[in-house]
Amino acid sequence: MTDKVDVHVSSVETFCRCPRQWMIRWIQGFIRPPKWALVVGRRLHKLADVALKRKYYKQELMTGDEAEELARDGIKQDAANTEILLEPDEVKAGAGKTRELEITRCGKMSRCYAQELLPQFHPLSVWVDPDGKPIRALQATPEQREDVATRVEATVPVVEFQFALDYRGRPIKSVGTMDNISITDDPGDGARLRDLKGSSKSPTQDEADNSLQLTGYGLAAKAAFGMNLTGFALDKAVCTRKTQKTYSRSLTTERTGADFAAYVRILDEICESIVKDHWHGCHPGSWWCLGCGYRGRECKLHTVKVVRP
Ligand code: SF4
Repeated sequence: MTDKVDVHVSSVETFCRCPRQWMIRWIQGFIRPPKWALVVGRRLHKLADVALKRKYYKQELMTGDEAEELARDGIKQDAANTEILLEPDEVKAGAGKTRELEITRCGKMSRCYAQELLPQFHPLSVWVDPDGKPIRALQATPEQREDVATRVEATVPVVEFQFALDYRGRPIKSVGTMDNISITDDPGDGARLRDLKGSSKSPTQDEADNSLQLTGYGLAAKAAFGMNLTGFALDKAVCTRKTQKTYSRSLTTERTGADFAAYVRILDEICESIVKDHWHGCHPGSWWCLGCGYRGRECKLHTVKVVRP
């Protein structure tokens, strides 16, 4: 194999659950249609990108009304242009009713982003060379920005920041998009790499502490910007499906050298699987395998008791 395989930070958890599923998606390229959770998640990322960059460049906050309207308009277009895979309960409820519910939820969570979460984040910036490659990071205080503007060609905020990093001469590239690296209004807290999400459930501390995505982005920040981040955060706008009760939760967490080393070992395992072209599956009774869209189709390992909408 001559071309390097892109290993998306957000896909590493999939490899841990089932290497074969990871291979079917990322090596063979079989893409199942997205579910509503993914469509809503992508729209929330776009909203956060616009709102945080406006805040950074113009010092303007997006209002809740604008955020909700933008998100609702955007997701209506997304839904019109995308085939969306429905969960069994969504099939039962009906495609139209599910669509209306998810548009409402997306709007409410966007309002929550604009009113509760985003105002407290102050994104850091990185210096970039003329090709847009990051040089190094600094805190984005107004004084620093002014100082930097006189000395370098450009600075950009670390907001929805895309990266593609060679991995120690191995057959992969680590790729992904960091949500943001920010300081907050709390003077006692340092810079944190933050993962923004929408959800129907409150996040748990366990989720933040064990998020491989946060660890992977932390490693990427070190490789790309030379930032030794130890502080991370999982920020969620929650909108329940039943009552559409909406609120935000931010959970902070830390990572140590041992966490980063464990993540590197997983990347090594991915390299091993690629080099040997060996991909084992997972337990046929696990919820992950029972709900796998490739089961009985691209993956012939388990062909019984397929649960599919
Ligand atoms: S059906 Fe099960 S074993 Fe096969 S790819 Fe999917 S999760 Fe993995």
